[in-house]
Amino acid sequence: MSYQLSYEADGRLVISGLECGCPCEHNEPAQDIYVGSGVLDNIARCIRRRNLGDRCVLVADNITWEVAGRRTFELLTADGFNVTPCVIRRDAPMEPDERAVGEVFLTITADTQFLVSVGSGSITDTVRVNAKRIGLPMVCVGTAASMDGYTSSVCPLTLRGIKIHREGKCPEIIICDLDVLRTAPMEMVCSGVGDVLGKYIAKVDWIIGSIINDEAYCPTCGEIVTDAVNKLVENVDEIRSRSEKGMRILIEALLLAGITIMIIGHTRAVASVEHNIAHYWEMMQMMNGRKAPQHGAAVGVATLLVWPLFTRFAQEDLSKLDLQALKAKRQTRAEREKWLVHAYGEEAAASIIRENECDFLTWEEQERRIRRAQERFDQIRECIASLPPLEDIRGAMARLGAQMTPADCGVEEPLLNLSMHCAKDYRSRYTLFKTLDECGLLEEYLKDYPIDWQA
Ligand SMILES: [Zn+2]
Ligand SMILES: [Zn+2]
Repeated sequence: MSYQLSYEADGRLVISGLECGCPCEHNEPAQDIYVGSGVLDNIARCIRRRNLGDRCVLVADNITWEVAGRRTFELLTADGFNVTPCVIRRDAPMEPDERAVGEVFLTITADTQFLVSVGSGSITDTVRVNAKRIGLPMVCVGTAASMDGYTSSVCPLTLRGIKIHREGKCPEIIICDLDVLRTAPMEMVCSGVGDVLGKYIAKVDWIIGSIINDEAYCPTCGEIVTDAVNKLVENVDEIRSRSEKGMRILIEALLLAGITIMIIGHTRAVASVEHNIAHYWEMMQMMNGRKAPQHGAAVGVATLLVWPLFTRFAQEDLSKLDLQALKAKRQTRAEREKWLVHAYGEEAAASIIRENECDFLTWEEQERRIRRAQERFDQIRECIASLPPLEDIRGAMARLGAQMTPADCGVEEPLLNLSMHCAKDYRSRYTLFKTLDECGLLEEYLKDYPIDWQA
């Protein structure tokens, strides 16, 4: 198990020497990712190198146009590219909604050969979905180290005010100029840090999934992410001062998390129960016509909330579980569906049920999982023990001035409490929250988050 991370002279990030004996299939990432001060200056050469064509649509919003859009336009035009700008102008922060996606779609013409996005999450997603549907290659110029989605192929979008996910395109070329990233507001930097810190939980949940359900765990991808997250925590003051070094460490962690998705083809290393909670907050706030928290900031706060449940479970005595009592108080399928409708609303509940068919366990399966947790409890404890002290994580966030509590993200108590109880239900991806639920411990662990619910 090994890998090397290095940079070529032009700033191209290279992951090499990928050796892993795990059962996952490993693909070397085919994207060109450039990180460094001034790498944007070489954008024309980067595009020529991959023969993407001469005619493109360049998408920015009114803010990112000023940050790097105009310059990208000038660099490409000077090099002979035919560039049609599509500047999405909004009074408030731009949403990746049907209007924005439509603006990009209508700017594209039959002879457009590739798309260029200049922005962070919202702009990238708006362009990515178009690139996928129309079948065009895409170049992404990042303007903030605020989330790990630059390398993603899934885009969270908004349709009629509701959060949806659609397939998008992973950009062929990603350009993260540290001089540009450094100009992003601190709030976006904190959001990037929050998204990265969640990876600690994602990794532990992945290993627990391998212990309980024999899921394939890739130790190399686990290590790639852990190395990057540890480095980030150790260098939080560099990040706070937005030094070149600090920005590199942050964007590297975000990109490397995304690269594991390309290597093994799924997001196990980057998202788990902390993301379920953050998504739930985003979704419910939008459904209620309120401002959704920033993704990474919400992930960071959710990470702080779930962490103590992990460390508490490491002290648990599973031999005391009364399996007959657990069997007797099992939820019926109808009760579970009713609960999902209560927590998520009709529409979202229906899609959760549809997409996670196996989530209603037979007693035989539940019993198997409980017995496995009992038999291999030492392994579970060991993997939880590998987490750094929560105080270090909390301290890092506090030093940055990041949002620390649900209230900081605009999440009030009833929503918070419900989110903790339904985090286990969002998808069938295995997490410690499912272990707790299956072992009949979740209610007790969540007694500080009371909800009003009777099946
Ligand atoms: Zn995320
Ligand atoms: Zn592997």
